[in-house]
Amino acid sequence: MTFKNEDNGHNVLNEIFGYSSFRPGQLEIIEAILTKRNVMVVMPTGAGKSLCYQVPAIYSKQKTIIISPLVALIDDQVTALSQLGVKVSKLHSGMSRDENVDQWRQFASGASNILYMSPERLMQPRMLDALQRQSIGIFVVDEAHCISKWGADFRTDYQELAQLKRLFPDAVVAAFTATADKATRADIVDKLTGGNCEVFVKSFDRPNLSLQVSPKQDFKAKLLNFLLERKGQSGIVYCLSRNETDQVYEFLKKNGFNTISYHAGKSAEHRRESQNRFMTEDAVVMVATIAFGMGIDKPDIRYVVHASMPSSVEAFYQEIGRAGRDNAPAETLMFYGLQDIVKRQRMIFDGEGSEQHKLLEYKRLEALIGYCETTSCRRLALLSYFDESVVNCGNCDNCLHPPDMQDVTNLAKLLISAVKETGQYFGVAHIIDVARGADTAKIKARSHNQIGVFGLAADQSKPVLQSIIRELIAVNALKVNLEKYGALEITDKGSRILRGSETFMAKVLSKVITSTAPTENSTVTPAILENNQMLLVELKKLRLALAKERSVPAFVIFSDKTLIQIANELPTSEEEFLSINGVGKTKLKAFYKPISDIITLFIKSTGADARTAEHIAVSDQL
Ligand code: ADP
Repeated sequence: MTFKNEDNGHNVLNEIFGYSSFRPGQLEIIEAILTKRNVMVVMPTGAGKSLCYQVPAIYSKQKTIIISPLVALIDDQVTALSQLGVKVSKLHSGMSRDENVDQWRQFASGASNILYMSPERLMQPRMLDALQRQSIGIFVVDEAHCISKWGADFRTDYQELAQLKRLFPDAVVAAFTATADKATRADIVDKLTGGNCEVFVKSFDRPNLSLQVSPKQDFKAKLLNFLLERKGQSGIVYCLSRNETDQVYEFLKKNGFNTISYHAGKSAEHRRESQNRFMTEDAVVMVATIAFGMGIDKPDIRYVVHASMPSSVEAFYQEIGRAGRDNAPAETLMFYGLQDIVKRQRMIFDGEGSEQHKLLEYKRLEALIGYCETTSCRRLALLSYFDESVVNCGNCDNCLHPPDMQDVTNLAKLLISAVKETGQYFGVAHIIDVARGADTAKIKARSHNQIGVFGLAADQSKPVLQSIIRELIAVNALKVNLEKYGALEITDKGSRILRGSETFMAKVLSKVITSTAPTENSTVTPAILENNQMLLVELKKLRLALAKERSVPAFVIFSDKTLIQIANELPTSEEEFLSINGVGKTKLKAFYKPISDIITLFIKSTGADARTAEHIAVSDQL
């Protein structure tokens, strides 16, 4: 089966999902599934994978099984589809036996043709028997990387899915994942389809995410500034430990933020409740460890902040990937300091695993330090890690405010000398004390006030010296020896700088910036017109009320992007309302009345008109 000429899938896209066009890649994948070709799709989070399997299932009406590892993911997708008027069933352990029986009957009788479930439920012999009598057309395997031992989240229950191709030879298998390197991809293809499969890999670039890194000095003040500027928005602040999570949570609460905390030390009840609040409330800050995030499908997360450096580029990419899934501008900000590098190195050093494995982990960490310390485009640094090349992005701190570089060879030499003259036995804090000529007991006890470099950098602040040491570590001129409790050691490159055979350039520290609000270059969504801001506030209130009435998250009613378009375009007829991106027939029926009431009131009270000169000028530019 393929699309009929007059339709080509746009009817489902327009009428059910309310979107005007497919995103790059979606149509080819949908066509492949409809023409019975197995597919394996690697697309970054937020790229729109779900639509790639939901459209063929809805369009072709074939019986479709969607396998997903998490109850929360299943619930979210089923709720969202139900709100669009699509009949869909689910089976999972969070529901009563009667509910499960009822859902199964709905699917078996043909009242719905889409069934969501977990892999362990699917692979039970009774279930497989029952499904073989149902002539299943499509198996969708979501989070397919869980099938591979090479992948980051191997799950034994996924392994059994390798039997599907033998048990259901006539069905199409469509596998989807956001994280799979080459080895993992090959493994997925082999296990699920025996090699008989088309592979689609979509770029990992997420141009709507702005990238910013900030040194950790004055962390609290910087964090507060950042969040105050974004008070009406929802976001996540990731912390390194439970302790840091609790501290940041208390700090933000004291400062009047609507804040939630989440980590593995909290009770199951607290975590469920926190997750629920994050999904349903507007303008909320989630402070959490990485225990929070997998399966979080909230499209309007506007920022992800890392209070400390994450473990690797992969982890960082996955965590920031939770922001801006609606493709509207979203921001990322990572704080990092010397302590983070040492802590992360220690975690690897103390961790389990072979030397080989640890070496790999150090390399991964090095790549992340490289991202933090780069003075050129950050996106370039990030994507080159995934073997992708891009041109300078114009949407990271370095592109927006290129750092001024200066020759700091003399200061670098002085610090490296301090390391050398103290026997390569001391950590950052002591080296800086020596260089600045501090009066500490440790310096006196070791007579470090007698060495040549003592006090030669007395005119420099601690943050400046810390920054230079960080950059020396990033370029591998100094290294931290964990066996010697974090002592700094000099590498060959460091020796060359010390001898004067290499110069050393570094960022001018005073140029550190605290905000990269999205620029014109980065905007994927038109911004709200200034005169219509109040209307947007009213529309958001209405959205929250509608969401509460239906016990669904706010974004299931409408995304931010859709609300902004409504507030800018002031649709006053059903036809105009339908032309808004994100409004299909079901949502037109459900929400046209309350929304048009608010718009009419707004037009009356302000004299605004969708066809004012200003508006026409803006639409003409878009
Ligand atoms: P993924 O599963 O790849 O992480 P989703 O399927 O959750 O991403 O999609 C992310 C967001 O993008 C959702 O809000 C979805 O409705 C939206 N989306 C997907 N395809 C389109 C499209 N063609 N036009 C507009 N929005 C889309």
